[in-house]
Amino acid sequence: MTQHAATVVGGGVAGCAAAMAAARCGVHVTLFEQRPTRDTPLHSDDMLCALTGGPDLGAAALDRATGLLKAELCELCPALLDAAGEARIGENSLSVDPVRFAHLVTRRIEADAAIEVVREEARALPRGIVVVATGPTTWSPLARALHSAAGAPFRFSFLGRAPVIAAADLDLSAARWAPLYPGADASLFVPISEDEAEELRVRLLAGQRVSPAEMAADTVLGDEADPVERRAADPKLFRDRVVGGPRGPEVTIEGPAVRLEPHAAGHETFGLPDLLTALTPEAQRQALDAIPALAAAQIVRPGSIHRLPWLAGAEALLPTLQLKRAPRVLLAGTLTGAAGYVEAMATGTVAGINAARLVSADEPLVPGEHSLIGALCRALVGPPPSDERMIQANYGMLPDEREDEGRPKRERRERQIAGALKAIGEYARAALDG
Ligand SMILES: Cc1cc2nc3c(=O)[nH]c(=O)nc-3n(C[C@H](O)[C@H](O)[C@H](O)COP(=O)(O)OP(=O)(O)OC[C@H]3O[C@@H](n4cnc5c(N)ncnc54)[C@H](O)[C@@H]3O)c2cc1C
Repeated sequence: MTQHAATVVGGGVAGCAAAMAAARCGVHVTLFEQRPTRDTPLHSDDMLCALTGGPDLGAAALDRATGLLKAELCELCPALLDAAGEARIGENSLSVDPVRFAHLVTRRIEADAAIEVVREEARALPRGIVVVATGPTTWSPLARALHSAAGAPFRFSFLGRAPVIAAADLDLSAARWAPLYPGADASLFVPISEDEAEELRVRLLAGQRVSPAEMAADTVLGDEADPVERRAADPKLFRDRVVGGPRGPEVTIEGPAVRLEPHAAGHETFGLPDLLTALTPEAQRQALDAIPALAAAQIVRPGSIHRLPWLAGAEALLPTLQLKRAPRVLLAGTLTGAAGYVEAMATGTVAGINAARLVSADEPLVPGEHSLIGALCRALVGPPPSDERMIQANYGMLPDEREDEGRPKRERRERQIAGALKAIGEYARAALDG
């Protein structure tokens, strides 16, 4: 019999992870999701756990940060990763069919007797223990309520997503499958002529933009938000990075090529990851018309750039993901300053476990610093990056071991992996079984 009760606001990746983790700890959860009563520019349906950008949940290999994060999550609450496994379309990375993934998670959460889904916008902070996981589309009045509870200012970063096109009507007669770099999943490269590449570049440069108002021409952007029209201003950069073809030695394509990345099972849709853009949908259409092989393709989701709010590090948050000034409120997902689906699952899981512990009057816990999830929680309350970019898990967050100095990199990595899995195992026993 589960007991009352924690609230989770936001049924995205982080909110679903939080709700499932709290329910796994024996606590009843009320999960608020505003869709379909209020739509957002990032979501196209009312499914929970929508992947709003690309379909990739990152590498499987443990020596890559997303691989280790996923291995740690499996020790805590593997429900979302189980669904991702069932919806998988990638071979090396955990790339999924986003629609199937969202359906699987929605069905599981709706069938879970410990989770009640309420399709309503939360316009204030709910009473009691609450995880707020409202993500990139956190708007007022909830944003105002959060700001006053945190007593700290929001920071803002930009993230973008690439256009997605339907496969029907594409002319793929000259296209070739190849990994972008050795070890990557295969993409489909559509060769284009030098003239077509130049025409594409000119149309990208000339197209009308709908960048967020705060994104000035000189705003410094990482790869995750740098629109192709900026790269188009430099012909060499455009030739190398946008239409440069595969970078590995195994497959070469003579001349420029446009990269198509599978975005759904059965290759029904493809993303254009090198064409992340802030152009209007009409300007995106005109740019694609420069490439005869893509000219008839329907754009099923235009590319776009978004400005995300998050709460600044140590002023606002504790490593338990509680608000410093209002510890009954926990944050998860992009609101913590962490970017990435797997980071959203990780912060959601820790926030959900700690919400359950607070409901049961137990001390909230942080995974050990040798685990990547623990290191991520600590990094979120460290000094914010000077370039205002959000944080992603990486091996550099793990503590340096003096006795490991001088060992070969591979051996050091293996020791880090073993240390991380040991630390997360200890946390799992304390937080879930203790
Ligand atoms: C444009 C863009 C592209 C991205 N692409 C990628 C990518 O390719 N790969 C990657 O790893 N990460 C990507 N990210 C980063 C980010 O990690 C993901 O967006 C991730 O899904 C964030 O999870 P979340 O749970 O914090 O937010 P979301 O998944 O957006 O979930 C928030 C949920 O809260 C709901 N909500 C909001 N306000 C309320 C309210 N007041 N009441 C009730 N419900 C509410 C929303 O409807 C939504 O369902 C991208 C981000 C953006 C903005």
